[in-house]
Amino acid sequence: MSKTVCVIGGGTMGNGIAHVFAQTGFQVVLVDINQGFLDKALATIGKNLDRQIKKEIITEADKTAILGRITATTNLEDAQAAKIAVEAATENRDIKFALFRKLDELLPEDAILASNTSSISITEIASQTKRPEQVIGMHFMNPVPVMKLVEVIRGHATSDATVEAVMTLTKELGKIPVEANDYPGFVANRILMPMINEAIYALMEGVATKEAIDEIMKLGMAHPMGPLTLADFIGLDVCLSILNVLYEGLGDPKYRPCPLLKKMVAAGYLGRKTGIGFYDYRA
Ligand code: NAD
Repeated sequence: MSKTVCVIGGGTMGNGIAHVFAQTGFQVVLVDINQGFLDKALATIGKNLDRQIKKEIITEADKTAILGRITATTNLEDAQAAKIAVEAATENRDIKFALFRKLDELLPEDAILASNTSSISITEIASQTKRPEQVIGMHFMNPVPVMKLVEVIRGHATSDATVEAVMTLTKELGKIPVEANDYPGFVANRILMPMINEAIYALMEGVATKEAIDEIMKLGMAHPMGPLTLADFIGLDVCLSILNVLYEGLGDPKYRPCPLLKKMVAAGYLGRKTGIGFYDYRA
């Protein structure tokens, strides 16, 4: 596969994806909507590379070379030579649909267009383009430089050749690809979010305290963190929005978001990012 990749969105996921591609030797064109977001993305990549230097995974010279392979731009047209695009822009259908129409116009005919979406249908994103067989989901996990899994999502029209190319590419990045089909929530969130939701129901119904719920799941199931702590880490608004996708997309009441989750999102208690969620991080 050509060694130029276009990564769209330099936020939490996009900067990690750009980091991993550049570290593998790809030329990365990193696109965001303004220079401030790009500066922040490059600063985060620099900090994460420093952490790898401290752990003696890379050298100072490697860091310079990796950063040297990343071109940050607000102009999507700078990516027109890329043979693969990985879109990690804000989780919003209209934003993603517009981006895929533009990528379809700009990128070479044989380029693969991938989305890192957590919950938007790959089939619907693909239908925005004239190359639905070359559109696929590449669902990286947070934090991208650390987590090994990439859930590879096959849209209804995705070709075997595209799946194979992306499975190979994912391995080249040092990650482990696992294939799933395009249904609401794919696999990771379809199983994770109902567990988090049930933990919130247990809290709302007074089955146990938040600390007890987390401790039981941590010690009993060997999870690295409890479900309520994890929800705070992911963001309660993100959890609610994915549960709504499962509830509406699968039409089954078992996915209905817990009223306590809805109330906390309405109050702005979104977890770590707002300083308070199930736990208080303001101190
Ligand atoms: P984020 O809000 O941190 O970053 C999104 C970035 O996209 C922002 O910098 C924003 O300026 C940029 N953006 C918005 N519109 C754009 C456009 N038209 N062109 C270029 N850039 C644009 O979001 P995130 O958490 O990094 O999530 C990105 C994607 O990854 C979403 O689809 C999300 O569902 C998915 N995802 C997130 C996680 C997670 O844990 N955060 C995990 C897996 C997948």
